[in-house]
Amino acid sequence: MSAKDYQKDYYKTLGVPKTATAAEIKKSYRELARKWHPDANKGSADAEERFKEITEAYNVLSDEKQRKEYDDARSMFGGFRVPAGGRPGAGGTTFDLGDLFGNGEGLGDVLGGIFRNRPGGGTAASRARRGADVETETTLPFGDAIDGATVSLRLTGEGPCPDCGGTGAKSGTVPKVCPDCHGTGQQSKNLGGFGLSEPCKTCRGRGLVVDDPCPSCSGSGRAMSSRTIQARIPAGVADGQRIRIPGKGAPGERGGKAGDLYVRVHVKPHGVFGRSGDNLTVTVPVTITELALGADIKVPTHRGPAVTVRVKPGSANGIVMSVAGRGVRKKDGTLGDLRATLEVTVPHDLNSKAKSALEDLRIATAGADPREELLRRARQE
Ligand SMILES: [Zn+2]
Ligand SMILES: [Zn+2]
Repeated sequence: MSAKDYQKDYYKTLGVPKTATAAEIKKSYRELARKWHPDANKGSADAEERFKEITEAYNVLSDEKQRKEYDDARSMFGGFRVPAGGRPGAGGTTFDLGDLFGNGEGLGDVLGGIFRNRPGGGTAASRARRGADVETETTLPFGDAIDGATVSLRLTGEGPCPDCGGTGAKSGTVPKVCPDCHGTGQQSKNLGGFGLSEPCKTCRGRGLVVDDPCPSCSGSGRAMSSRTIQARIPAGVADGQRIRIPGKGAPGERGGKAGDLYVRVHVKPHGVFGRSGDNLTVTVPVTITELALGADIKVPTHRGPAVTVRVKPGSANGIVMSVAGRGVRKKDGTLGDLRATLEVTVPHDLNSKAKSALEDLRIATAGADPREELLRRARQE
């Protein structure tokens, strides 16, 4: 069997469902074979071709072991189809990039395992392998990090070469079982009674050798390509945090589980708001009279209407006012706070009335030097 055989739908050829029993397959084959037998069709080339296809399909599906391998290979390939003699994507064929992210030997080994058809299995290429973990990064706007967002991530990775389907063999040829290790990928040495196993040098542990290498990948069976996935970033993610997305890493091989995707998140700073853990921060300008005499001041909230907070008379510059529930969503679903720092702005362009009012204030508050305590302590230390 060659790679192309797994692109054929034998069930369709025989007109039976995938769940068909051996008896149903046999019955359908007999009917079709009778209909398309060359003797019954006076040498029609079409009929002969059909007859061959039916027989090929029956040969695989009637053999329990071959049928299972065929089913496994097809389910593993998913939408993976390589047009005969052409590049993927040409001629309206589909090519599922998601299948390209095997991290190990790739499709070549999947096929290798089938080509070998060794009783008992257990070759280098037949073991299930979990897909590799993949790491990527993304940059989110400030608000998306707080509310959560679905992002498109473009992942680049090494996968099976699309031209040879990962076999490493030139189009139309298939890799051969390695003659030195008979497909096990291992060579054993006998050292004074000790058996020692090491990767086969001829096939480098792959279990397969290629006579006629694929020109696109020079026989390696590997190629770089990319895919785009949608990933959900949870609400409240912080700058520099790493998000694990299970099952979105490299696909597993031979029935192995897919690896995980790790996304390192960078968050763009906001022009107004900052973050401190689960709390948002904001700096709010106030006048000296608002702090000295007390006032109701408006504080902006992130993606919501401004709220009014009451400033007590005699509040210090730099005082932090908390607005409950206007922060970042926490893991337990509750919300952090908004912390507003009140900062005095000093007027620099005073009209004469304001100037004279401040002069009056200076006279009215003259007395103790506010720096006296500071200067005294500085001398003591
Ligand atoms: Zn190739
Ligand atoms: Zn070998």
